[in-house]
Parts: sequence; structure tokens; C-alpha cells
Amino acid sequence: MKFSRILLGLSLAGLLTTCTRRPTMLEIYDVVINHVSIVNVETGTVQPNQVVVVSQGKILRIEPADQHSYAARQYVNGNGRYLIPGLWDMHVHFRGGDSLAAANKKSLTLYLAHGITTVRDCGGDLTPSIFQWRRDLDTGRLAGPRIFTSGPKIDGPGATWPGSLEVETPAQIGKALDSLQRLKVDYVKIYDSKISGPAYLETIRQAQRRGLKTTGHMPYSVTLGESIKAGLDATEHLYYVFKACSGKEDSLTALVRNSLGTSKPLGLFSVLPAVYDTYSPAAASRIFKLMAKHHTAAVPTLFVSKTLAGLPENDHSRDTLRAYIDPRIQATYQRRLASARQQSPAAQAFSQKLTAKLLSLVPQMQAAGVTVLAGSDSGPFNSFVYPGASLQEELVLLVQAGLTPRQALQAATVNGAKFMGVADHSGIIAPGKDADLVLLTANPLDDIANIKKIDAVISRGKAYQAAALANMLRAVRNR
Ligand SMILES: [Zn+2]
Repeated sequence: MKFSRILLGLSLAGLLTTCTRRPTMLEIYDVVINHVSIVNVETGTVQPNQVVVVSQGKILRIEPADQHSYAARQYVNGNGRYLIPGLWDMHVHFRGGDSLAAANKKSLTLYLAHGITTVRDCGGDLTPSIFQWRRDLDTGRLAGPRIFTSGPKIDGPGATWPGSLEVETPAQIGKALDSLQRLKVDYVKIYDSKISGPAYLETIRQAQRRGLKTTGHMPYSVTLGESIKAGLDATEHLYYVFKACSGKEDSLTALVRNSLGTSKPLGLFSVLPAVYDTYSPAAASRIFKLMAKHHTAAVPTLFVSKTLAGLPENDHSRDTLRAYIDPRIQATYQRRLASARQQSPAAQAFSQKLTAKLLSLVPQMQAAGVTVLAGSDSGPFNSFVYPGASLQEELVLLVQAGLTPRQALQAATVNGAKFMGVADHSGIIAPGKDADLVLLTANPLDDIANIKKIDAVISRGKAYQAAALANMLRAVRNR
């Protein structure tokens, strides 16, 4: 609907009657956000004093304030506030078995309350539950972020994570991909606990032929360059990028490959110190260029690395968000906590050093034209990486690493939408796009930490103002 019709509606109503006080032809919108400053995450500019009109889940119009009157089911005062696109957390997990399904479901509220309107689930063992939540979210029976999911992870025989599809031969890979396609997953996630190098590359190739996106970890027995050339769409965490930054990548890869089948097979963590010591700026620049050329995205997950590296020394007993994490999920935190406590002082020192080094790769990748995606890795087992808040901390770390606030916001909005192939209707604030928005009381371009100052979240065209968000949080608080 155009202005002219509304104006016509107003004037007709005025002409026709003085007895009805409400103009009957005035359209009632779902949400109107008035007098708001709109943050353009692509240009890094702010358009002050705008009205955003939302109808049927979409942004209908954006226009300067004070030109028209509006009727809305939900009216949001944007005065002195900043509107950004809803945030995307591009790496989360729902997992822990069916007995934890209800506990995982509560995290949907935490995501929404922290401004996350879309998450990408990176594999677990709750696929049927996730699809059920998605149906309930779509019909409005449930409030929460949009969910993209990989379904079960692909890994090798004897995989670490329950629910993984275990593959070794090309035929098994074909069957696994058949089953994922039957589930209608959004992409394929590959994990590296047991998968062989050849099976890993074959999975990427077969998925590529079927038009499925692949992302993943990577066995250290292959190189990132090989994986990219096979068609890998995104590399999760920075360990695999980091290996490719070694000047001795080929010999380290051969070392790992030759150790397999011996009594002492080498894994990622045993090789990382050698990778660190042989870091080469020239090799780094080569791999970043290759990633940019092949549009291979990176999901740095800096906050989880930092949190896990800090486990031996940081006391999380007073974290306020623990009140919202189901005790059965908190119980899963013990596993990583126990292994952290067993680390030698030297190993602890190395993981701190490594975290700092991984941080330094991010601005270099960004400068080389690599797509950076913001992901938290929150979910059961990843100790103290709380749903929602951890993505905010990820953005703070991306800026600390050297990205501008604008680039960090892109990593958590438009980049995610582009990666999942939905940028035509999502990821930015413009007419026709999904009405997934976050209203902040301060400008995140001035200080990225301002993304924590949430006044309202608009998800699927419905506004959740501060009081509503507080009520929703109260409902999932542990009793
Ligand atoms: Zn993960």
C-alpha cells in the first residue's frame, strides 16, 4: 500500500463522516516503529528520524517520521534509539539427547532476548525436535529465532558425537547424503573426530554435486587448500585456517597422515604447537586469497576459544546467566571443565597464546576479502558459552581482533543471510525484507558493546518490547 491510499483513507474518512471517530479505511499495521535511527550495516551510515512499518512479517515501508499518522497493533517508540537487522548466530548446537530436548528448547528464548533472530544449528542429535520447533515457530505457537540446521553431523566410524552419520566408503557417503536430503537439511556439517581424509574430501565432492553446501572441521591429514578446491563452503573455528598458515603445512600434514594407523596417531591438538611455531605470513596471505577466490567463508568462534582457554583459571560460579541455563545442560559443562583442569601449566599457557594468535587472523582474512561469519558455538557441552549473550561477546571480540563495528555487524547479519542464500529477503533493513530487527538504546557503530543495550526485538513481524522480553526470560529461569 502506498501513502496516497492512506492519505486518501484519512481524507475520505474526514469527508464521509464526523460520527465515526476512527477512519475505517486507515490500515492497521502489525508494528510501527516511529522516530527511529536506522543503522545501515552495509554502508555504516545512520538514517535518523524514520518510521518503519511492518505488516505480515515483512518490512512494508520506511519513510521519514512526522509525515503521516499510523494505526498499529504494536507501536514501538524509536525515539533516541537505533534499529539494526536481527542478529544471526552462525554456529550453535542443540544436542544432548532426547532427554535434553525441552532444556535445549528453552535456549530459543535466550537467543531472542539477546537480539538473535536467526541461528544456524551445526549438528547434533535432536534433529526431529528441531524440525518440530521450526514448525511451531512458523505457525507462531513458539517464539524464537529462525533455525537453519545441518541435521546430524557426518563423521567417521566410531564418531565422538552421538547421532553422527558415520561414513568411510563413497557408497556410505552417498547414503548419508541421501538421508540428509530426505530430512531436507539446509547444509551438511562435517566433523573430524574419526573421518578419514579421503572420506572427508569425497563427502565434500558428493555434496557439491548434489548442490548441498558443506561446512566443517577438517582432519589434519588433509590441507585446507584441498578442501576448498573440493568445494568446502565454510571452515568452522580457526584451527584449520591456522594450519594452512604454517610454512610447513605440507610436511605437517604428511606427518599426521603417516601417523595414522600407528600406535600413536597425531591429532589436531598434538600438531598445533608446531603449526604455531611455523606460522608464515606468506602462507597466511596465500590461503586467505584462496578462500576469497573460492568464496569459502570462515566462522572464527573466538569467544568459545577464549572461554575454553580460560576454564582453568576463571570462576563462572557467579555468572548471572546460569540462572537461565537448565541444570541438566549445566551438568554437561563438567566434561570440558574436567579436561581443562587436567591441563599442564604449559598446555594452558599455549592455549592462551593460541587464542590471541587466532584473533589476529580475523582482520587479515577480512582484508583479503574472506567472508567472516559470526558464530558463538553455544549449546550443551560448551561450558559457559551461553545462548545469545555469547554471540554478543563474539562481536565484541571480532572488533577487538581488528574488525570495525560495521564489519562485525555484517558478520552477524547480512553475511549470514548471503551464506544461507536468503539475502533476497533477509539480513538488512529494507522494504520487502523479513521484519527481524533489534532496537538498541545506543549506536553500535560507535561501540559494538551497544548491541547489549536492547530495548525491543522484532521477530517475524512481532515486537517484543523490554517488558515482554523480561517476562519471557522469567518463564525460562530455573526455579
Ligand atoms: Zn560447534
